[in-house]
This record gives sequence, structure tokens and C-alpha cells, in this order.
Amino acid sequence: MLGSRNLREIVEKNLDKLQEDLSVKIDKKNPDKIHAIEATGCTRFAYYERRDPLPSDNVSKISSLLGNAMRHSFGNTRGEYKVEGLSLEVNADLIIADEFVVRFEVVQTLPEVPHPRHLLYLNACLFAFNKDEGFLIYMTAEGKTVEFSVTKNNRMFEEVIRRARVLSTLLKDGKAPIVEPSELCLNCRYYERCYARKQVKDEGTGFILEEIFKPKK
Ligand code: SF4
Repeated sequence: MLGSRNLREIVEKNLDKLQEDLSVKIDKKNPDKIHAIEATGCTRFAYYERRDPLPSDNVSKISSLLGNAMRHSFGNTRGEYKVEGLSLEVNADLIIADEFVVRFEVVQTLPEVPHPRHLLYLNACLFAFNKDEGFLIYMTAEGKTVEFSVTKNNRMFEEVIRRARVLSTLLKDGKAPIVEPSELCLNCRYYERCYARKQVKDEGTGFILEEIFKPKK
């Protein structure tokens, strides 16, 4: 008979398989091929994912599954931009009328301005597909959306190439990139590799506050 433990193992195995099938394909053994998702996010995270990965927890597995499943349902076109021995790879969610590149981002709350890393990513897609304009569409689980139009920008692309090159070099040298403090760190599985963390136990004594606010002698 199927026990609850076996059932959980079967579900987890299938989730892992699905995640592998749907996730962005990155040639992790080739440091001359960098995916734009690696270069526009935290490069230290990308380094750990290639060199010394930790398993992802169920919450991040499921949220990346939902995002990736949606991207695949739209077409998920792959492209690349080659520059002096480096290949920058991209995946666009949708190309409309052979003219506009579209990228979707699933978020909890709609942003008022686009996130810089999403702008950099979409701009890299414009270069890889040789298009001039794209749309960044944010959507929530409740179906609310907001769109931003993005036009091709050389300076933003140079920054992505620079970051891809740094990651490529550090992968070859076996050195982790520097810590990039951002909101991504809060839910990152490599948090403890980047930041020393020691929880201070107050245990209701008010010791820390007393020390801070005690009158100076
Ligand atoms: S904790 Fe922050 S700096 Fe460290 S790998 Fe994660 S996102 Fe990057």
C-alpha cells in the first residue's frame, strides 16, 4: 500500500523532473556560454548554481515551475548573441508579428516601474533577436497586469555583456563573484554563504535596548 511518505517522495520526484524539463537550459559546463538570466541576476548566485548548487526548497520549486510553465505555453524562443568568444544566450517568451519581443514576470504585487534586472534581460533579448522594441508584462496570480514598453539600448546591453564576461572569467578561475546585496538575498538559498548570520537571543531581558538607550555617564 502507498504510504504518505511514499506518496510525498513520488510527488517530489515528479516535481523535480517537471522542473528540470521546464527550466531554462543552461550549459553549466561551458563558461563561454552565459545565459542572460545569469548575467542580469546575481552573478554570485549563478556561480553557485553552476559550481556548488544547493537543492531548492519546495516553495521556490513551485513558484519557478509556475513561471516556467507559463513561459513554455507561450513559445519560449531561444536566441543567442555572440561577441568575441562569448555567447550570451536568451529565451524570449513571445515574439509578436516578428517585431516585438515579450517577456512576462509573475509577481506578488504590480510594480510602478520595471525592475532593472528585468529591463536588462529584455534588452538583451532585443539584441539577440535583432529587434528594436519589446514589452515587459508583469502579472499577479489574481490576473492583474501592467505593461512597460522597452526600446533597444546600447549602454544597458554593454552592462550585461560586461557582467557576463566577469562571470565567465570567474567560472574559469574558480572564484566566486562578489556579494551583490539586493532584495533577492532575503529568500536566497545561498544567504549563509554570503552573510554571516547570528541570531541574538534577547530572551525578554531587554538587554540590547537597555544598552543602546542607557544614559551616558
Ligand atoms: S545571498 Fe544575495 S549575494 Fe548571495 S548569492 Fe544570494 S542573491 Fe547573491
